[in-house]
Amino acid sequence: MKNPDLDAEPRKRKPRSKPRGESTEQRYARLIAELRRQFRLGSALQLLEWDQETLMPAGALHERAQQIGTLAVLVHEQQTAPAFLALVDELAADIDQLSSAAAVDVREVKRHLDRERALGTDLVRARSVLQAEARAAWVSARRENDFAALAPYLEQLFILQREVAQAIAPERDAYDVLLEEHERGATRAGIERTLQELRDGLLPIIQRLSAHLEGHPPAVSVLCGHFPLDAQRRFNRRVVETLGFDFNRGRLDESAHPFTIGIGGDVRLTTRYDERDLRCGLFSSIHEAGHGIYEQAFDPATLGTPRGTACSFGVHESQSRLWENVVARSDAFWRYWHPRLGESFPSLAGCSFDALLLTVNEARPSLIRVEADEITYNLHIILRFELECAMLDGSLTIDALPDAWTELSDRYLGIVPQSHRDGVLQDVHWASGDIGYFPTYALGNIYAAQLWRAAELEIDSLENGIARGEFRPLVNWLRENVHRHGQSLTPHALIEAATGEPPCVGPLLEYLHRKVDYLESV
Ligand code: ZN
Repeated sequence: MKNPDLDAEPRKRKPRSKPRGESTEQRYARLIAELRRQFRLGSALQLLEWDQETLMPAGALHERAQQIGTLAVLVHEQQTAPAFLALVDELAADIDQLSSAAAVDVREVKRHLDRERALGTDLVRARSVLQAEARAAWVSARRENDFAALAPYLEQLFILQREVAQAIAPERDAYDVLLEEHERGATRAGIERTLQELRDGLLPIIQRLSAHLEGHPPAVSVLCGHFPLDAQRRFNRRVVETLGFDFNRGRLDESAHPFTIGIGGDVRLTTRYDERDLRCGLFSSIHEAGHGIYEQAFDPATLGTPRGTACSFGVHESQSRLWENVVARSDAFWRYWHPRLGESFPSLAGCSFDALLLTVNEARPSLIRVEADEITYNLHIILRFELECAMLDGSLTIDALPDAWTELSDRYLGIVPQSHRDGVLQDVHWASGDIGYFPTYALGNIYAAQLWRAAELEIDSLENGIARGEFRPLVNWLRENVHRHGQSLTPHALIEAATGEPPCVGPLLEYLHRKVDYLESV
């Protein structure tokens, strides 16, 4: 080890990372300090965005866009500063001298930077301009139900994302490269196999559901009526807090599209309420609380590092869906909340437990992904995955997309959209340039079912506890088996370590069969 001599080196004209004689540990300490600085700058940026979605007066939009733009440039400059890049490269070259924890940070930062660096400034600029324009075009195209208005943007976005993939890894499949941005280690072939298995396994479940629905028109939901906003806010806060979200280090607010941000000791959830339907706010609050409980898990000592960052989009989504679906639609969950519902909403004081449970578990094929039930949800993802793969490899033209959408919707869901708004224009993802994002939703469902099964085996009478309002054992199990790993493991390795099995669709399919068993029994 060389003698550390932090202050002796005079500044050089050519950027370099290290003062001469600095040890690997010292360089690593500098990396952490730098990552933390970048994280804090990024946190300020996120807070501005959060404010824009929740509280900001409409008239502030122009100046807010400038504020966000200014900070975004600063963040980008820090992340691409030559001295910082050199520091990461030097540490990566000496990675075997680092502890395994430190090596995780270096490996993941380097992986991220290598992707960024592969993209020239022109490509980065072209992409962000096109994404901003396409998003705006999507908003009006959706409003006007006008696919032709969005088509040229989609066309360009798919071309540009092919270029991006080509720049990052010319020898690899373009979809693999884009997918990896959202799910480390995942490949198109792997996702294809998984979704194929899921589709095959869902077929008999959907058939059972369809046969059941023939004799059962939609029931009147007991959670529809009039539920004043203030009462909903209080009830949602109570639920989310009881699940394990810490309001000393977090908030629950409202926005048009629910989301969560985590900026160190401050995790912010948003939800959206409908005074006529209690389910809308409640399930989005619980969904976001699942994300938030994950974000609150990270050790402050790992702030801003990959070890203190969620594993992947799929794993993040597994947390939200575990709480929203597996827990919050269960018999045990409502055993606890049913009597408490009447305390907050007098109109529900006399509602029957059975009617309540049915209301939160109803399932039937529908057109809109974000409103889909647990049983049919993944078909929406399979449809999108097939279409985006075909558009990326050029076998499906953008002009032919609406017809292809209709055909798959008919094949998988048995219903077809009567408007583009309810079909191909319903999601913003493609217009945002997010290709390879949709599969992470299905992966989230798959992981959630696996995690639940493992937790059930390992936690003594988990469901009985939940029926008594005891959610801590499940939070603790997730802390130990999922949250604490940050990005130390790939999603695949994390799920295998937590559940004893690599990612697989069996537990989800069994879970969904049990849902249909339940529906058939009522
Ligand atoms: Zn989510």
